[in-house]
Amino acid sequence: MIVVMQKGASKHEIDHVIQRVASLGLKPHPIVGEERTVIAAVGEKREQHKEALENCAGVAQVMPILAPYKVASREVKSQPTVVTARSLRIGGGNVGIIAGPCSVESEEQIMATARAVKAAGATGLRGGAFKPRTSPYSFQGMKENGLKLLAQARDATGLAVVTEVMATEDIPLLERYADVLQVGARNMQNYRLLEAVGKSSLPVLLKRGPSATMDELLLAAEYILDAGNSQVILCERGIRTFETHTRFTLPLASVPYLQAKTHLPIVVDPSHGTGHTYLVPRMACAAVAAGADGVMLEVHPNPEAALSDGYQSLNFRQFDETMSLCRKVAEAVGRRI
Ligand code: PEP
Ligand code: MN
Repeated sequence: MIVVMQKGASKHEIDHVIQRVASLGLKPHPIVGEERTVIAAVGEKREQHKEALENCAGVAQVMPILAPYKVASREVKSQPTVVTARSLRIGGGNVGIIAGPCSVESEEQIMATARAVKAAGATGLRGGAFKPRTSPYSFQGMKENGLKLLAQARDATGLAVVTEVMATEDIPLLERYADVLQVGARNMQNYRLLEAVGKSSLPVLLKRGPSATMDELLLAAEYILDAGNSQVILCERGIRTFETHTRFTLPLASVPYLQAKTHLPIVVDPSHGTGHTYLVPRMACAAVAAGADGVMLEVHPNPEAALSDGYQSLNFRQFDETMSLCRKVAEAVGRRI
């Protein structure tokens, strides 16, 4: 249920409703809006709950939340969520560009990439140190040494570091070096991991599983929100279909769809979404045109020599050109990169 407080309800009245929600065995999620406070009461609802809450002082209205996800829904929070980490701002009109290699490979590689993407206008630096690879024989990432290099690149450029967390037990280590925790497509429904990143103080970038529906993605985000972390970015990275021309199929309708259903920002990853460098620049522009709150791009100094995902990575010149194109599109649709 959503408990909508009256405009100008006092702190005392709001605190009382929060306590009342908890005493009914529901979990209160207060959302302080510009005009009024709304308290989402999540849990198994009973008819008498509505009446009990309606009778509290300062309450304007009590309504059911129709969507299966609750705290993630627009019904509960109409204002867009803005996720902030250092120079990175995503959501509420801010278009964030997160760029960098698929994997951190060496000091030279990550430092050169960080400088190049920063100069071209990126606000976040991506780079995997723990890599989920289909084959156990493929490069698995530099682990903590990779994280140290990311932190070094962040110190040199001010870019926010976005890097993947694969296991719950690695979270404390990642928190020492990262600014945003990425939950990869393969882990979108790893509920213990979602709960654990939900307890972190760092924002989370949650990638869509290749076979996950929109509702499954939003319910995965709900796990993170329910655990107490409100800083969640959703990422459309393509899904598996019968199509083989592209590595995945990148459905951009998910951008306006998700924006209608949730207040959380949506980032598009055209690198994984297409799997081919030559398709990336225009799909990045298409994502901006569709209203995405950010774009995530794989960039490598020498894609041919990359240890992972080189075939879908941009070199520095291509990234620069992609940024110029995206800026023009952003301007045309009334946004700024
Ligand atoms: C990545 O970002 O390099 C990655 C592994 O992405 P995904 O989880 O979307 O496959
Ligand atoms: Mn990759």
